[in-house]
Amino acid sequence: MKLEFKGIYGQKKAKDYLTSVVSLLREEKVDSLFLEFVGPEGVGKLTTALVIANAVNCEGNDEIPCGICPHCIQMQHLQHPDLILLIPDMNSEKWAEVLKRREPRMFYNPVRQIRIDEIRDVEKELWRERPYSGKYRFVIVVNGENLNQYSQNAFLKTLEEPYPRTVIIFIVSRPERILPTIHSRARKVRFDALSFRDFQQYFESFDIRISLPLLYRITFGSIGKAKRFIRTDFLQIRLNILKAVRNGDAEELQKVFRSFLRVKDMQEEQEAFEPSNGYIDDFIDFYGSIARDLLYIKGGLGDFIINLDLKEHLEELAGFVSEDKVLEMLKVFREASFWLKANVDESVLPYALIAPIVGKSYQDIFRSY
Ligand SMILES: [Zn+2]
Repeated sequence: MKLEFKGIYGQKKAKDYLTSVVSLLREEKVDSLFLEFVGPEGVGKLTTALVIANAVNCEGNDEIPCGICPHCIQMQHLQHPDLILLIPDMNSEKWAEVLKRREPRMFYNPVRQIRIDEIRDVEKELWRERPYSGKYRFVIVVNGENLNQYSQNAFLKTLEEPYPRTVIIFIVSRPERILPTIHSRARKVRFDALSFRDFQQYFESFDIRISLPLLYRITFGSIGKAKRFIRTDFLQIRLNILKAVRNGDAEELQKVFRSFLRVKDMQEEQEAFEPSNGYIDDFIDFYGSIARDLLYIKGGLGDFIINLDLKEHLEELAGFVSEDKVLEMLKVFREASFWLKANVDESVLPYALIAPIVGKSYQDIFRSY
């Protein structure tokens, strides 16, 4: 048996480990398994999880997944009866689209968080004694950190039951948002940021006019992020964000934010399956990287900034924003996604991000929405 990790670059350690896991499962030597795939966003965690689910249930014996047996065909269309995908953060219109086109089983309606009763549905499903047609059933939780505390707790109950022939894969890019009790139960499979070579290899066939070393630098080697950056022209948008921040102009930032979300929506219509809420995170992360770069410049370490292409603009900004304000920017950056998870309206974001620059309290702004 040779396991083919098609479309997954680098990640040798994870691949080696998972190859042995797949062998064990195919020989049916394990009853149930809980894996946590941890690593930066966009380096192939979900793709790998799907390959594993596919490979375990594939009927082929040489190169697996064979791609032609009934299991493989169903898996490729995300319609295998033993595949349960939980995606906490996909936007609802896109969901409807996906459902129309592919009718996958047990995809959940994407409110921002998976509801507890939905987790209970999964639980009920797992009480069935055997998988429907495959050797194992797979529950893949994409972006597990986007489950709220209650859902995480409900999920924990699921983990406590020894469901037969069940593999649960929890995919996480921000492990600090996961309950420690979930963490401690999982076998962790670590995914690394891609090396520049792997990154370059991936984008070789793409016709892009952006400098790859820059793209690699500002996405920390995340292919998923890089593809989003290209689609939304985020390199250019970054400059507009930076200018609005520089001017302390929340209205201007709001405009940039809205136009960015519009591009995002247009792109999403073309992308059938992109289970990520990453766009808003991109916006917030870039803001965080501005703050970090400002600290570097203030500390005389200007050569080590992330946004090298924006160096001049950042140096100018560092000249008139005090260190206290920069530290306040870092605080907003760290808290912003939590506020959004608490269902604060996302249109508040530009105002909160500008607050430190104009000497307002970002907490007050979040609370007022
Ligand atoms: Zn197959």
